[in-house]
Amino acid sequence: MNLIDSHAHLHFPAFDADVKEVLKRARDKGISLITVGTKYSTSVSGIQFADRNEGVWATIGLHPSHVHDHHFVDENEEAGSTPLPEHDFDEERYETLVNHQKVVAIGEFGLDYSRVPDGTDVETFKIDQQRVARQQLQFATKHNKPVVIHCRGGATVDVTGAHSDMRSLIAEEIARGGIDRRGVIHCFTGTAEDAAKYAELGFLISITGIVTFGKSVASAVREIPLEQMMIETDCPYLSPAPLRGKRNEPVNVVLVAQAIADVKGVSLQEVARVTTANAVRLFGLPSLLLE
Ligand SMILES: [Zn+2]
Ligand SMILES: [Zn+2]
Repeated sequence: MNLIDSHAHLHFPAFDADVKEVLKRARDKGISLITVGTKYSTSVSGIQFADRNEGVWATIGLHPSHVHDHHFVDENEEAGSTPLPEHDFDEERYETLVNHQKVVAIGEFGLDYSRVPDGTDVETFKIDQQRVARQQLQFATKHNKPVVIHCRGGATVDVTGAHSDMRSLIAEEIARGGIDRRGVIHCFTGTAEDAAKYAELGFLISITGIVTFGKSVASAVREIPLEQMMIETDCPYLSPAPLRGKRNEPVNVVLVAQAIADVKGVSLQEVARVTTANAVRLFGLPSLLLE
């Protein structure tokens, strides 16, 4: 059985001490993975990591949380440094990375309305994120890569509003004749209705350990066809139950797959087979993984 953790951050400092063991635990379970960049520096380090390790591919992109000043510091992501914002997606800089053979997608980028910095005008905040998302959609079109989308709501704008803004941006790029290879909405926490609207745009959704946290994602998963689904850990974040609160790692994608299997009343093997095929197709991974 092959599984693909379609969204991990294994090159983040959270894994510095024991990444070899973490990777071995994943490989022993037949798990390959995509390690995801969140800004220029972590896009570079993700490629370097993928280059050193078989069964690991990388993405490059600018996460919406790194677009603003006065933002939070995530020690799991970049230890000991004050994060410098990238107010715009610097195409020329990312262009030096995009043709690397291990780069399979552009992302993660998108909209994150969950953390509006104090004193920031909400409309300006949203417009800045939308501009940077648009830049990366166009970049993906230019380089014929699929996209990995991060979309999250918050207190000011709820998740429905965030998804509706995100779909407008995607539809706009498709109308321009762009993003032929489409993409995935990672860490999907929307409704089945949201997922259906993304399916109309040709987009997959990807499920994290949040499916084990409670009824809302699980009930959406029950209705969303497996054919639209991938699985991920988003590690080091979002450990599924019963490991909630601990550092997450790729081997736990088995728990995500099992939770989906339980909710849908299908076998773990069926979830593995279909989600792996979806990931292989979207990212253009070796067909060897389908065996
Ligand atoms: Zn994300
Ligand atoms: Zn992520």
